Amino acid sequence: MDKKFSGAITRTEENRLSYVRWSLDRVDDAKYGQDLEVLESAVERYERLHADMRDLQAQLAGYLPRGKTEMSRVPSRPANRTVPAGRDQRLIARSQVEPGKKYPEYREELRYDFFHSCAYCTMSEFEAQSIRMTIDHYEPRKARPDLTNEYGNLMYACSVCNERKSDRYPPQEARDNGQRFFRPDEDVRADHFTRTAIFLEPVTEVGNFSIQTLDLNRRGLLKLRELRKRLADCDPLVSEGILALRSFHIDQLPREVKVVPQP
Ligand SMILES: [Zn+2]
Repeated sequence: MDKKFSGAITRTEENRLSYVRWSLDRVDDAKYGQDLEVLESAVERYERLHADMRDLQAQLAGYLPRGKTEMSRVPSRPANRTVPAGRDQRLIARSQVEPGKKYPEYREELRYDFFHSCAYCTMSEFEAQSIRMTIDHYEPRKARPDLTNEYGNLMYACSVCNERKSDRYPPQEARDNGQRFFRPDEDVRADHFTRTAIFLEPVTEVGNFSIQTLDLNRRGLLKLRELRKRLADCDPLVSEGILALRSFHIDQLPREVKVVPQP
């Protein structure tokens, strides 16, 4: 991989790299493939709810008085954790932590600050429960032992990204050309990455370096993005639909469609 960036990669090495990636995908599948299947079946249930909700809305709209063909839309509630003001759109804002601790002792703070998700691939503990989350040193311990216990150098990362990141410590000259890892506590994601359907595409060299080195289009992540998209497609109708139903005027329904309670 390092040779690829220095431009010294041969065809055989390129083929070997593809093979290694393919094998790593197999390992990932074994690690959390089953979790993604569980997540997928949950998404399927949600999609069924989405379809039922749409049918119900259409059916109920038929009973509403003329001119009121849509149920009232209820504004969705804002998320309770938003990006702090003044931090642009950086995803991660670090908590103030007690200095002087050993790095493993910061695990819970990191977990909270990183939304229980990997700093690099964004897979969360909720999405793949068997995912092993690790503490990554942005500047590796080997190269920067002085930053070993420095909270600002610690990243919450899945074991897959952490292993792929390894002890890479790009020299300054390479960093000046953008060959460094994206970091969500300092960089704005949209500055470096864009998306074409479920594929992450680089906008900058930092994006390119991170995608290539960490293999951010690996099979498990493509699956995850597809599932997230399916969930997001259902979300507005399901959540707003349920709230709208709560305020639906049942008394306006014709007598024949009202359920008569059994004695
Ligand atoms: Zn990851």
